[in-house]
Amino acid sequence: MKLDKNTRSKYQLVIGLEVHVQLQSKSKIFAADLNQYGGEPNTHISPISLAHPGTLPLLNRKVVEYAIKMGLACHCQITQQTYFDRKNYFYPDLPKGYQITQDKTPICRGGKVPIRPNQPALQPEDRSTEVLIHHIHLEEDAGKLVHLAGESESQVDFNRAGTPLIEIVTEPCMHYPEEAYAVLTEIRKLIRYLDICDGNMEEGSMRCDANVSVKLHDAPELGRKVEVKNMNSIRNVQRAIEHEWDRQIWLIEQGESIVSETRTFDAATGTTAAMRYKEELNDYRYFPEPDLSPMDISDKWLEQIQASMPSLPYELENKFSEQYGLPEHDLDVLTDSKEVALFYDTFCQHTTYYKAAANWVMGPIKSFLNDSGKSITEFPLTYQQLSELTELVASDRVSFAAASQKIFPALLDNPEVSPTTLAEKLNLFQESNTDSLQTLVNEVVADFPDKVTAYRKGKKGLLGMFMGEVMKRSQGKANPKIANELLRKALS
Ligand code: ADP
Ligand code: MG
Repeated sequence: MKLDKNTRSKYQLVIGLEVHVQLQSKSKIFAADLNQYGGEPNTHISPISLAHPGTLPLLNRKVVEYAIKMGLACHCQITQQTYFDRKNYFYPDLPKGYQITQDKTPICRGGKVPIRPNQPALQPEDRSTEVLIHHIHLEEDAGKLVHLAGESESQVDFNRAGTPLIEIVTEPCMHYPEEAYAVLTEIRKLIRYLDICDGNMEEGSMRCDANVSVKLHDAPELGRKVEVKNMNSIRNVQRAIEHEWDRQIWLIEQGESIVSETRTFDAATGTTAAMRYKEELNDYRYFPEPDLSPMDISDKWLEQIQASMPSLPYELENKFSEQYGLPEHDLDVLTDSKEVALFYDTFCQHTTYYKAAANWVMGPIKSFLNDSGKSITEFPLTYQQLSELTELVASDRVSFAAASQKIFPALLDNPEVSPTTLAEKLNLFQESNTDSLQTLVNEVVADFPDKVTAYRKGKKGLLGMFMGEVMKRSQGKANPKIANELLRKALS
């Protein structure tokens, strides 16, 4: 199955995502059992989660608050009069025989997520900047079937049954696998900033189904879609879509048609395989959940939630770009976690060397945290110390190498001593005195008359050798900028 570029460019790829996010409330969505990943099978269960006759669900308000937070973060419209529906189907991991979900009145409608896809093949102006959300609804998770190796029977663990979920459903508005990658990365950032989910795709606290179709560019209608499941990382969602893209075009080119089906992704081969055929019309016999009363979300409650919203990644990115002038790469690294982003933002209240501050956070500080296993909230130095360190480098008094490799570790060992004192003690101040540097330059020029002639005849590459000599004689402390200028002058 090999596609040439021309064949592929006849078709437009269409992607819509369904993202399930487990909300990390203490208890489940309709019962008081512990909402916690793992644990001995069938220990976080109650008669309500198991749907014993006579039990009634009771809605956990925290879960509603979390869903509204995500809706506000995505600029959705919040549905203030909303209710739950029953979705009926049989599966062994579904104790009730139905799932409580929202069909007609999802808690959030519309909205969008900003993205910055990495698509080197496209002009910047052709890259999309947002993904539209169709809706976000609340629902409960099912239990889990456990298939033990070598056993002919499967077992059921109901711990997960009743775990609160939001399902974020996008419009079929994406046309490149990189856009799916970018929107999932942003969604994961958002749920982490909001503290509503850890976004761990390996453990399944965030899961994504990718709906993929292709069509000829001028075809008026969307092609028939295939749903791909079982990707345990954002990268694998992208790979699954890349594979479907080629597979579907290839089939169509062979004169075959696409069947509506659910496929599973195999990370080892990067391919998808048919899992089950999707009937054109699934009959879930949805009807309003009679055991729960409709919800009325008051203006006052909405305002309270709005007021409790933390800084969001895209807000901080805009600030870092506009106020601190950081390039895109730095924005991605610094806003990856809320704690790091807020640390950098506070750092910038103590210095005006914004880019230098970013380099300190992304370089020496991150390495220290990695090596020590500490989180940035436990970082032992003060912003004053960091700003003094930044200024020593920015004013050319100490080289970045000396500051990051000598002063920074010394400071971590002796946080009570100031960076300037340490620079003195360790004899790290750069020689910026023009007179004494000039003396060194003159000596070097006098000691290598042949090389000077060669340089003047055009062997400009020799400048590096002269610089090396000046550095050596200054014991590495010559201010490279000044030494370079003086050398050029002396040699010309
Ligand atoms: P279904 O009725 O099968 O549940 P929906 O219309 O509810 O389908 O859409 C489910 C998801 O599939 C949404 O994320 C939507 O954006 C996406 N989707 C719908 N149609 C297509 C299509 N033709 N190609 C790709 N994705 C699609
Ligand atoms: Mg649907």
